[in-house]
Amino acid sequence: MKIGEGGRAFAALRMTAQAGAFLADMVFPKNIYCIACNAPLKGDDPMSLCGDCRKELLLGQPAVCRRCGRFARYPAANFCEGCAAREPLYDRGSAAVVYEGSARKILYGLKYGGKGYLAENIAAIMEPVLPAASSYDMILPVPMHRSKKSERGYCQTTLIARQIAGRTGKPLVPDNLVRIRKTEPMSGLSREKRTANIRGAFEVKDPAALAGKRVLLVDDLLTTGSTADECARVLKQAGAASVQLAVFAATAPRSPEYQ
Ligand SMILES: [Zn+2]
Ligand SMILES: [Zn+2]
Repeated sequence: MKIGEGGRAFAALRMTAQAGAFLADMVFPKNIYCIACNAPLKGDDPMSLCGDCRKELLLGQPAVCRRCGRFARYPAANFCEGCAAREPLYDRGSAAVVYEGSARKILYGLKYGGKGYLAENIAAIMEPVLPAASSYDMILPVPMHRSKKSERGYCQTTLIARQIAGRTGKPLVPDNLVRIRKTEPMSGLSREKRTANIRGAFEVKDPAALAGKRVLLVDDLLTTGSTADECARVLKQAGAASVQLAVFAATAPRSPEYQ
């Protein structure tokens, strides 16, 4: 059987695409090793987690505070201790996993290991707990300062937000909320100190584009909520109708970072 010119060209294109996908898999290996513990994986899994890490990450979760998305020490109350004392400035929060063992390793790889491709797996892990896509108009990542971004080569929250946008079909707006001031490292600071440290760190470039819009704010980690609070304050001041927060990991009530 003779293959026509078109067929040959198509076959060549398909081979190029296959070679491209193969090369991409070499650079961004998918479904070969567990993203948390590096154990070899058997099947096709969008989260790229082995059975043990999946169990630890997804089944070992305490209940989430219905208001802020943090994992609550007394889930029967529906609210965490933080919200009982003072409600967050964002409207609703959701977290996918507890910031412990496997989640720490995954976030470390994303932030400090140069593994930007983990954002795809992180979005897959977050997807089941994301608010309904009909409840927001646009997706904004919590921004990092541009000097830090050029150091790291990418902004990890933008990578996660882009993956969520791809999954939900909602528009990603990566550059309207910007970080105008570098902040001191937050770990070890009390909630009050964190709030003071982050105050004035963000700015909305184009308030008109935000006016009346419902925002899904995406971050990688939720500790005291000071950063998300300050973003929500600035977004609402600029005219956003609502701000929901979606984070990959939140600190556990038993962790030293939980306050
Ligand atoms: Zn594993
Ligand atoms: Zn709460």
